[in-house]
Amino acid sequence: MKININDYAQVTRRQNLDELLLLAERLRGRTVKMVNSTSVGGGVAEMLHRTVPLYNELGLKVKWDVIKGGGDFFNITKAFHNALHGTKVEITREMFDSFLETNAQNEKEMVFDDDFVVIHDPQPLPLIAKKKEGNAKWIWRCHIDTANPDPVLWEFLKQFIARYDASIYSSPSFAKELPIAQYLIYPAIDPFADKNRELTRSEIDAVLRKYSIPTDKPIVTQVSRFDYLKDPIGVYEAYKLVKRHADCRFVYAGGTASDDPESNKVLAELQERVGNDPNFHILLLPPFADLEVNALQRASTIVLQKSLREGFGLTVTEALWKSKPVVATAVGGIPLQVIHNLTGLLAHSVEGVAYQIRYLLNNPAAAERLGKYGHEHVREKFLITRKMRNYLLMFIALQHQGEPIISL
Ligand code: UDP
Repeated sequence: MKININDYAQVTRRQNLDELLLLAERLRGRTVKMVNSTSVGGGVAEMLHRTVPLYNELGLKVKWDVIKGGGDFFNITKAFHNALHGTKVEITREMFDSFLETNAQNEKEMVFDDDFVVIHDPQPLPLIAKKKEGNAKWIWRCHIDTANPDPVLWEFLKQFIARYDASIYSSPSFAKELPIAQYLIYPAIDPFADKNRELTRSEIDAVLRKYSIPTDKPIVTQVSRFDYLKDPIGVYEAYKLVKRHADCRFVYAGGTASDDPESNKVLAELQERVGNDPNFHILLLPPFADLEVNALQRASTIVLQKSLREGFGLTVTEALWKSKPVVATAVGGIPLQVIHNLTGLLAHSVEGVAYQIRYLLNNPAAAERLGKYGHEHVREKFLITRKMRNYLLMFIALQHQGEPIISL
């Protein structure tokens, strides 16, 4: 079914939508280039797939380019990603050189003749060198929790960030000392995407059958890439603790991202640890498994997000929108979404996660209340229409950079 912008009146207030349309009118015909490092896998690609067509429908001209890189480049940027999240990683001079070389290669192949350029995450940061070729406003959109980054790496990246016109973060705690404007824009989900739309019982059952998941017991699910920072082994450890007292199934469902070279190793480690436990299901999802993710979340009694670090955690947003009780670790942007005891339950350890899951399995009324409030919380703050409105406001503000008052 083709969804257009007016359909969003079904999920958000008409007033919010009208405001979005008015702002878009101010930017009609403006060109924007979005740049990231993968077209599939992870939250950034997920959001770009949904927002780019909608911005175009609103009258802007938005294009999305993906930078190219080899295995070495993505090994390096994965190490950067981990180090920005505060994990101890050795960063060498050679890594910086190789990172710059791949970016220089991309620079040669890319043209920037737009009004606004939005660079997502650190991988394409040095493309800022192209700023001098046009009049575009350049924005760095950081999706990572940069509250405690590796200091050497941060100093290196800062020389590029400081040349942008503005930067965007997902949580107030991620903002840094920088000589440029910093905006807070929450990530968001699209309720009409296959990932989130309402499903029929038979659509859900078909997915469960496809992955051989019986519905005889409560299901606890984590959907995440196979990444150490998503703590798949921690999910399994929590399962073992819960299982001592409550009969249930756990599902860890994830795919890989083309810019993440670690995932096969993480998957193999999890498979080895779990062996053939019939109640712990490891699902390797193909790219674009949106309907599957949706069905698995909807089939779940509880949705878990046991991350060690997190940018924002769109999987949490998706689960809350589906009115699911969520148990999650209090990292990155998760506490913005899961307000403890109101829109879900927070925990800080394997034991804590297991405790909260057992509590919810034994208290279905509490679980239902959390799910209901979670849904409303997402409606208020984390829908795609609100996010697009904030981007448009930022574009307008950047067009008037330096002016003390901008009259809309
Ligand atoms: N996702 C997916 N398939 C997978 C794993 C994740 O489609 O196998 C989606 C998930 O539903 C969410 C996004 O990828 O929309 C992950 O975003 P999140 O912010 O949770 O984490 P990231 O992967 O960006 O660290």
